[in-house]
Amino acid sequence: MEAQLKKIRQLLEKECQLNQELQNQNQELKRQLEQKEGFIQVLQGRLDELDCAPQRNSNEMPEVRQSRAAVMAPERVPEVLEITVNRVKKTASEAAQIVKAIGKNDFLRRLDEEQITMMVELMKVLDCGPGDVIIREGTEGDSMYIVAAGELKVTQAGRDLRTLSSGDMFGELAILYNCKRTASVKAVTAVKLWCFERQTYRSIMTNKSKMKREQLMGFLKTARTLKALNDAQLSKIIDSMEEVKFQNNEVIVREGAEGNTFYIILKGEVLVTKKVNGQQKLIRKMGEGEHFGELALIREILRTATCTAVGVVTCFSIDKEIFEETIPFESLELHDDADSLEDDEKTEKVGPETSLKLNELIPVPYQEGSYQGEPVTLGVGGFGKVELVTTLQHRKYFAMKKISKQHIVAKKQEGHIILEKKILQAIRCDFIVRLHAAFKDARYIYMIMEFCPGGEIWTKLKEVGRFQENIAVFITACVVEAFAYLHNKGILYRDLKPENLMLDSKGFVKLVDFGFAKELSRGEKTYSFCGTPEYMSPEIIQNQGHDFAADFWSLGVLIYELLVGSPPFSSSEPQKIYAKILDGVLNFPSYMGEGAKSLITKLCRPRPGQRLGNTKNGIKDVRNHRWFNSINWHKLRMGQLEAPTVRLIRKGPCYINFDRYPYDKIQAEEEFSDWDRDF
Ligand code: ATP
Ligand code: MG
Repeated sequence: MEAQLKKIRQLLEKECQLNQELQNQNQELKRQLEQKEGFIQVLQGRLDELDCAPQRNSNEMPEVRQSRAAVMAPERVPEVLEITVNRVKKTASEAAQIVKAIGKNDFLRRLDEEQITMMVELMKVLDCGPGDVIIREGTEGDSMYIVAAGELKVTQAGRDLRTLSSGDMFGELAILYNCKRTASVKAVTAVKLWCFERQTYRSIMTNKSKMKREQLMGFLKTARTLKALNDAQLSKIIDSMEEVKFQNNEVIVREGAEGNTFYIILKGEVLVTKKVNGQQKLIRKMGEGEHFGELALIREILRTATCTAVGVVTCFSIDKEIFEETIPFESLELHDDADSLEDDEKTEKVGPETSLKLNELIPVPYQEGSYQGEPVTLGVGGFGKVELVTTLQHRKYFAMKKISKQHIVAKKQEGHIILEKKILQAIRCDFIVRLHAAFKDARYIYMIMEFCPGGEIWTKLKEVGRFQENIAVFITACVVEAFAYLHNKGILYRDLKPENLMLDSKGFVKLVDFGFAKELSRGEKTYSFCGTPEYMSPEIIQNQGHDFAADFWSLGVLIYELLVGSPPFSSSEPQKIYAKILDGVLNFPSYMGEGAKSLITKLCRPRPGQRLGNTKNGIKDVRNHRWFNSINWHKLRMGQLEAPTVRLIRKGPCYINFDRYPYDKIQAEEEFSDWDRDF
């Protein structure tokens, strides 16, 4: 018995030992598993980061355009559109064909229903015979086309590209601005085309936007809570409001719930009900132009009724939080920025440049290289070129912008050029290039500017790929100061991009190129289509009317481009750029810091009224953003900061920081129409 017990004990002990070993093994396996899971998590994190990076094919460079000239539509938009006169009757299937073609176009399909209906109605018919050329490569276009019937051939430099047939669209970029046609289109058979002109497109878009603003203004004026606000303030609220759609029976606000949104009904009907003795009681029905929830804007409330959509309802709405950002804007810093500015009169230094004369300006030649002996060209833009000149008397360098007068007239730029000179002449700001003198002769107009020897930020960016954060912060801070000055003076800039930012000898950044600058009063909108595609704000692209907020949008795009090396919305085709801007999706690469992401997101908000810089504290909010923590704004203004950008400036001949250009000896034709009397 004893022996048996002993045996059992031994067996049990052995079993215990085995159990212990198994438990140890288990624990080891568990530990290994945990380690592996940790590792998987790390890998997943890296994968996510890669996914967040801008979408790029591994063997492909980001799609960007080589030349980024500014673009614009030169004509004025007609005040009223003779819609009834221009309307062309179409059968249902013809209309359907046009709508389908519009639906296939990246850009146009983003228009709203009403705009598309108007386009369909106003399309004209164009009949062509075999061999007729509809579009000629190299010429400027003003219409787009949809093929109703027949066949056409697209050629480029004599090479066949493709065939167009019924339902195809071509030439559509021309309805936005006067771009050069990049290919020719010729009829192969008899062809029927639907044709749509830029002027018609622009007047539809602009007039519709204006009418909508006026209508909204009328609606807002009936809101008791907003009674104390003036037109400029109401206009600001409209800029912050957003369109929202509700489906049939959807509850928009619920009785008893916390309220924080104000709604105006744009389309459809809304039922207002209240609970009485446990039953929903109908109070009233509201329709277009009526509004509800206004009290939510000014204080904390609980909703006193339920509002439900009857059918599909479109509202224009604004949240309390955004309303508070927008109003009051008496304190808008656009007014109180004086301390950042030099006093125009007092600080004007009477330099030697006051005695500059056109015939005393001497071209500076390249001292070496393949262009040795030829005059230095500093840059060429969409409208002219900039040469390096000096004088015997002053022994100083100047940048001379020289533009053919005939070219100006051909491009209908007379007004813009006169304004460019007028605005530049009045500006005294360390972050904006100085204009010392302006001249004209029979062939050209000349603007003699302070020379910025450090070259374009664009060139530097291409050299390094992308900037380190401290450099991007510094460059942007200089631009913020330039904008503060300009906006305070009621000047809109509209052409921000690295190509228009120059470095002076100390590495400070200066804004050049005032070709699109415009004087604008507060609360006013302007409707011209202009800027550089990658930098245009959604409201410019859609002809909705724009103001200072458009500059803040472009500031966001600039920060992105400085940090990444390419802009956030880019493609090799302008239309695709516009489509991306309207979608407004920002993809940040994994290396971008949180501060930069936050600032860019706040500057590139689709609604202009919600953009940082354009909210109630104005540009102060931009300066105070954490991305600028390292900037001492006062020292920056005083020129007392050490510019990190000096590192980018090369030492050598005065033109060393510029690309080189062959000298163009051909003289422009003379022009005597006298448009430049006041230049
Ligand atoms: P855009 O196509 O941008 O409208 P533009 O024809 O109006 O161009 P600017 O942008 O004024 O011309 O100048 C063209 C280029 O000339 C600049 O990008 C720059 O390289 C050079 N440039 C302009 N001003 C100066 C300056 N003050 N100092 C040095 N270089 C300058
Ligand atoms: Mg330029």
